[in-house]
Amino acid sequence: MNILVINAGSSSLKYQLIDIANETMLLKGICDRIGMKGGSINQKTADGRQFRLEEDMPTHKEAIELVLKALVDKEAGAISSVSEIGAVGHRVLHSGEDFHSSVVIDDEVVRICEKNAELGPLHMPGNIACIKSCREVMPGVPMVAVFDTTFHSTMPPKAFMYGIPYSVYQQYKVRKYGFHGTSHKFVSEEAVKFLGAEHSRIIICHLGNGSSISAVKDGKCIDTSMGFTPLEGLIMGTRSGDIDPAAVEFMRAKLSMTPEDAVQFLNKKCGMLGISELDSDMRVLEKAIEEGNEKAALAVEAAAYRIKKYIGSFAAALGGVDAIVFTGGIGENSSYMRKLVMQDMEYLGVEFDFDENEKRAEGLHMLSKSESYVKVFVLPTNEELSIARETAQLVAADKK
Ligand code: AMP
Repeated sequence: MNILVINAGSSSLKYQLIDIANETMLLKGICDRIGMKGGSINQKTADGRQFRLEEDMPTHKEAIELVLKALVDKEAGAISSVSEIGAVGHRVLHSGEDFHSSVVIDDEVVRICEKNAELGPLHMPGNIACIKSCREVMPGVPMVAVFDTTFHSTMPPKAFMYGIPYSVYQQYKVRKYGFHGTSHKFVSEEAVKFLGAEHSRIIICHLGNGSSISAVKDGKCIDTSMGFTPLEGLIMGTRSGDIDPAAVEFMRAKLSMTPEDAVQFLNKKCGMLGISELDSDMRVLEKAIEEGNEKAALAVEAAAYRIKKYIGSFAAALGGVDAIVFTGGIGENSSYMRKLVMQDMEYLGVEFDFDENEKRAEGLHMLSKSESYVKVFVLPTNEELSIARETAQLVAADKK
C-alpha cells in the first residue's frame, strides 16, 4: 500500500509517498508560498526525476490538487492514478489531552483539532486546513492524524505538571505536552529492536534546528524537555529553551516588546543564534569556532551543557540508563556537539569512544566502547516513515 505523508505548515506543505510494504520512499516534495503570490511545487522521485511548477495556491486545497497532479505526472511522478494512494497520514502538531495515540480522521476528530488549535496557533490552522482539503479532494481515502505530542502522553502527572494552581491546569490545560513525538517514538522503537527489550531505559537526544530530549522506559515516554510549547528545554537554533519567566518580563520592558513580540523573540532570535549573534546553523557555528569566534564557541558550549544536564536529570528520572541515542541533523552529523555533551560522563557508566565519534557512518553507529555499561549511538530518525507506519497500522485495524 502507498501512503501519502503530509506535513503542512501555515504557508508550506511537505509530502512523501511511501510504499509501506517495503518501507521505501517513492518521492518527496514541497509546496511553498501557499496563500501568497509566487507559489511553487518541487518534487523529486527516489530515482532522481524532478517535477517543478510555479503556480499560485490561494489555499491548501489548491496545494493538495497540485500535489496529486505531481504524483501522477507521466515523466516525474511515481504512480499512474490517485487510486494507488491507499491512505494519507497527516502530521498534526497538538493533540491536547484529547488523544493518546494516532487516530483515523472523521468529523469528530476534525472538530477536536479545531478546539485545540489555540494550543498551537502557528501550526494547527495549516494542519487542519490540509486535513479538510484532502478529505474534499480525496473522498473515500482513509486518513490518519499522527500527533507530535501523543508519544509523550504516557508521562505521569508528576512529570507534566507545572508548579501552578491545579485549577488553572484543569481549566486551561496548561501543562507540559512535549513535541517531536514521531521522532522519539521511531528512534526509541528502533533502539529497543537493536538493544533487546531488557535494556529499556533510553535517553533520546533529538538535536536539530528544534531540539528535545526524552526519557523512555519500557517503550513509554516518562519525561521530555519540551513543554506547553516547543520553546521549553534545550538551547536550540533560535529558541531560548528554559528561562526564568521573570527575566522575560524584564527584557520585555527594557526592549519595549509586546507580550506577543516577546514570545516571538524567544522563539526566533534567541538560542545559539542569540548567543553567537552570528547564525543558528550548526555548520556555520562550527566553522566560526575553527576561525576563533568566541561567541560561537560559547553558544555551542551552552547548548551542549544544557543537553548534558538534561541527560543527568533524565538518568535520575529513569533510575539509571541503558542507552543514550543521538538523532536529528545535529545529533546525527555534529561530532563536535556530541563530543562536548559526552565529555566527563564516566560517572554515569559511559565509556565514550572519542575516535569513533569522529568517523562518518551510515545508519546506526555505535559510539561507546564495547566495555561501556551505557551504550551510546547515533540512530538516524525518519519521521515520515514513522507517520506512514502508524497510518498503515491504524487503517488496517480500522478495516477489521
Ligand atoms: P534538522 O532540524 O534535524 O534538519 O537539523 C538541522 C541542523 O543540523 C542545522 O543546525 C544543521 O547545521 C545541522 N547539521 C546538518 N548537517 C550537519 C553536519 N554535517 N555537521 C554539523 N551540523 C549539521
